[in-house]
This record gives sequence, structure tokens and C-alpha cells, in this order.
Amino acid sequence: MTAHAEPHVMKTYGRLPIALSHGRGCKVWDTEGREYLDALAGIAVNTLGHAHPRLVPALQEQIGKLIHTSNYYAAPLQEQLAAKLTALSGLRNAFFCNSGLEANEAALKIARKYGHDRGIERPEIIVYEGAFHGRSIATLSATGNPKVQAGFGPLVEGFVRVPLNDIAAVEEVARTRPNVVAVFLETIQGEGGIKASRWEYLQALRKLCDAQGWLLMLDEVQCGIGRTGKWFAHQWADVRPDVMPLAKGLGSGVPIGAVVCGEKASEVLGAGNHGTTFGGNPLAMRAGIETLRIMEDDRLLENAARIGARLMAAFEREFAGLAGVKEIRGAGLMIGIELDRPCPELLARACEAGLLISVTAERVIRLLPALILSEAEADRIVEILAPLVRDFLAAPPP
Ligand SMILES: *Cc1c(COP(=O)(O)O)cnc(C)c1O
Repeated sequence: MTAHAEPHVMKTYGRLPIALSHGRGCKVWDTEGREYLDALAGIAVNTLGHAHPRLVPALQEQIGKLIHTSNYYAAPLQEQLAAKLTALSGLRNAFFCNSGLEANEAALKIARKYGHDRGIERPEIIVYEGAFHGRSIATLSATGNPKVQAGFGPLVEGFVRVPLNDIAAVEEVARTRPNVVAVFLETIQGEGGIKASRWEYLQALRKLCDAQGWLLMLDEVQCGIGRTGKWFAHQWADVRPDVMPLAKGLGSGVPIGAVVCGEKASEVLGAGNHGTTFGGNPLAMRAGIETLRIMEDDRLLENAARIGARLMAAFEREFAGLAGVKEIRGAGLMIGIELDRPCPELLARACEAGLLISVTAERVIRLLPALILSEAEADRIVEILAPLVRDFLAAPPP
């Protein structure tokens, strides 16, 4: 692998020294013709893999008709995608934007205005240790990772932080802080290392939010859109949020974000309160509509659940009794393997072995493959990754 000199690109990322040229399904090829199995899917974005045979012609047709119109005109494709998202979630309406942080930013604005509408001048929002909500000033302030925040203070105020899965901590906040208006968390923390909210915890939060008149806001930017085997991860807990930001997998690669709202939050924003130039454009809406349609036609939720369980079982077998592997966790095709030591170098080693993965929270190997992943491809991921992990753990610590 040769490093690519990129003197004109701002160095906000440490990049692997390969450049990808094209892909098909769960395979991608670099500019030198080497093939890789893609277990990352552009960080949970390429729901349908690469160059999907039904998505590509639909997007080509859309580009030939309209890419962008502005939000000055009636938007039938927005209505179509919003109707689908509300039907799948049991919520009421949707606002469209272009990314995860924008969806979260909209959610935070909804929470604050919901408070102001109730006479709370300085509304507060409960957020979590280990959370990740994006890189804008407000969303990095809500994020529970000092590395993301370092150098960008002063942070936005109005957040109260609690540990995950500790209902007593939230009850304590309820007793002591009268200005709280919302609870904001990822149903399953992604960047934080694939850490799930316990289902009973979400149910208890739902009850508490109802009793307090708070909004329950579930960031499903990474865990939503079928990744865990349900349309939205919170559906495993049989609860319904008031506000649900979405992005990543919704457009299968075309930038898109959405904030989907239930009754309590659906009328908080009105004309003039919020806006976006690109958000809801016909190309992104078509990508969302076709992604959800193909997911349904090809039963990709079932596939995510089944192949995910196969992967988890295989890793459990491979790593049974291996002291350096602390935990294998996840749901569907959102899987984390936590090691007992930092392992960022596994990224490059996997890449050299022809496998694209991610490492998050320093020591968690993260797999987020396309939801079309086949059994054979899942087995191949294990075949490549398991020996790499064993070798890595066998080497004496530096
Ligand atoms: C990726 C992510 C975001 C931020 O999305 P961007 O599109 O990068 O702004 C927010 N929340 C969660 C849970 C994410 O995984």
C-alpha cells in the first residue's frame, strides 16, 4: 500500500493509504485493482451496499429529472418519504435535512422551543456519558467525549449529563432540575463502542418522560434504518420516542437526514422557525424512498437479524476463552468486539488482509456492513478477522 499525498486536503482524518475506485454489493476495489470485503459500509451508510442494481437506475432517472428545487415549492417526494417513515415508526411527521448532526441540531431546537412554549426560559436537556451526536458546536456539546470537545469551548450550555442505563440518576435530575425538557440519547451508542440502552431502561425513561412532560429523543442516526433487524432499534424495547433523528443509512449513500416527530413534538416548529437549503431535495428523497422500498422487497431486516446472529455466534466460537476479548456485543449488523487494549492498528492490518472495518472508542472493533451481507460474506469476515485479532492479542504489549 502506497501513501497518497494529499497536500490540499485538510488533515481532519488519519486515512489508510488506499483509494477506493468502485464497488459492487459488499465488495470494493482500490485504484490498484485490489479487492476488499466491506464490513463498514461507509460507517453504516451504504445500506444496500455499492452500485445496487435497483437503486442506481432509480437515482439516474431522478438526476435526469430534478436534483434540487429549494423548499419554496410543494414537495411530493418529501411527503412520500415522510409518510413512509411515519408509518414505519408510528410517529406523525418529519423534517428533512442532510446529515446526522443536522437532524440532531433540529431535535435540540425542538426541545428548546418545546420548553419555551411552556414558559421555561432556560430549558435543559439530559444527555449521556459516552454519547456521540455530531461535530457542530451544539451537537459536540451534547456529545459525551472530551476528545470531540477539546479545543472548541465554550460549549453550548443547557445540557445535564448522566450515565447510561442508570434510571436513578435521571430520577435525581427530575427531582433537582425543574428546567429539564427532554432526554436525548442514542438507542445504541455507536461511536461510544456499541453500547445499548437496556430495553427496561428505555421503558422506564418513556414512563418518566410522560410523567414529567419531557420529550424522549432517540438518536437513531447509526442504529436506525433496519441495522439491528427492526426498522428502528427502539422498537425492540416496544417504546416510541417523541423525536427521532435519522441519517446515515437512510439514503444508502446519498446525503440525507431526517427528524421524525410524534404528536408531542410535531407542531413545535412552524413556518420560519427552522430551515435548510439542500434538505429534502428530490435526489435525497428519491434515495430514501428507494432504499426503504428495496429493504422491504428484499426483506433486509430479516437478513440483518439473521446474518448478524450468525456473525455473533461465529465470533463467540472463535474467541471463546481468549482472555484479550472482553465482550462481543451488538444487535443485527451493528457489532462491537471489545478488546482489553487499544487496537487502532487493526484497521490497517485488516485493510492489508482485504477487509474494511472500524475501530471506535480505542478498543472496540466495529462492524457495520451493508444489510445485504450474505452468509458466505459473513463467514469470510470471520475468517479474515479472527486470526488477525488472535495474532494481535498474542503479541507482547509494546
Ligand atoms: C454519525 C452520527 C452522528 C453524526 O452524523 P453526521 O452525518 O456525521 O453529522 C450523530 N449521531 C450518531 C448516533 C451518529 O452515529
